[in-house]
Amino acid sequence: MIINRDNVNREPCRDPAAREGGAPRVLSFGRSFSDHMFKRYFETAGQKGAWGDGHIVPLEHFSLHPATASLHYSQQIFEGLKAYYGVDGKVRTFRIAENAARFNRSATRMCMPTMPDADFIDAVNAVVDVDRLSIPQGKGQSLYIRPAMISTDAFLGVQPSESYCFFVILSPVGGYYASGFAPVSIKVEENYVRAVQGGVGEAKTGGNYAAGLLSQVQAKKEGFTQVLWLDAKERTYVEEVGTMNIFFKIAGKVLTSPLTGTVLQGVTRMSVIQLLRDWGYDVEERRLAVSELVSASKCGELEEVFGTGTAAVISSVASLSYKGNLMQVADGQIGDLSKQLYDHITGIQFGEIEDNFG
Ligand SMILES: *Cc1c(COP(=O)(O)O)cnc(C)c1O
Repeated sequence: MIINRDNVNREPCRDPAAREGGAPRVLSFGRSFSDHMFKRYFETAGQKGAWGDGHIVPLEHFSLHPATASLHYSQQIFEGLKAYYGVDGKVRTFRIAENAARFNRSATRMCMPTMPDADFIDAVNAVVDVDRLSIPQGKGQSLYIRPAMISTDAFLGVQPSESYCFFVILSPVGGYYASGFAPVSIKVEENYVRAVQGGVGEAKTGGNYAAGLLSQVQAKKEGFTQVLWLDAKERTYVEEVGTMNIFFKIAGKVLTSPLTGTVLQGVTRMSVIQLLRDWGYDVEERRLAVSELVSASKCGELEEVFGTGTAAVISSVASLSYKGNLMQVADGQIGDLSKQLYDHITGIQFGEIEDNFG
């Protein structure tokens, strides 16, 4: 892939506060963006479509026809990963090859064109490199990377688009939660579902998140931070928490939902499983009924609950509410294992801890 950098601003803006030696700015998640973006178009001429060259340009708005397919029928996918400024001055992305592979799996599910994993990786690395001064260097801060692809045909018929735009934007971020690493309260969702067998739950596609908003808004109104999704068919088995994968430590053993098509294949999830097994924990990927959680909680065996995802890394759960009954977890404190995992994974991401896993 050829990457054109002709319009790159040679003096990209650094955080003015940091440039003047001041304290790093407070960054809220996903609201500020770096100076540049990457974009690449897929066009169909005749029978076969093809990707054009890549372009790094100053961050700009899109101009789209109101009939643009992605705006109506959500033929759209995205990814999420981060670049970290290491304690050794080296910039690292975390397991980017996994994001490239998942992006292409999402593309295939949504009838969108794939691209070589190497192109995805080169695109991300190229734009991060141009805007490397935008990687914040305060504690816990990083550069959130949002690759995405939208269908761009201006056509109101329901069919796969023939043209697409792949782009990458960058957002300097602090911690994901306004409350920092504070444990969250979760409502087990009984009315709405996130994903069904045979649906698109495994793809990182916009519609999944729009579908979850109403449940999230209602839970917030009732004083909860997030919802725990159950399986769509039996409303019995635990699947994910908000937009994170979920783990339970019950009587010393660690449990998480299996990847059966309705659960997003998290890179953090996979890393947590690898680490825990390396540390000698018994990790089971199996269906877990919410009734098991209730019994474990009653006999004091529900030791820890935590969500995993790129944005928050590890999010400790303080309580679960199911059918009006509140289950307290770890006395509402951050569990030891949650803390240990958070410290170890962020330690690897910031180059403080040796990485034995690639
Ligand atoms: C992105 C995402 C995750 C977490 O994946 P990571 O690769 O760990 O960031 C989990 N669940 C859903 C629904 C997601 O969209």
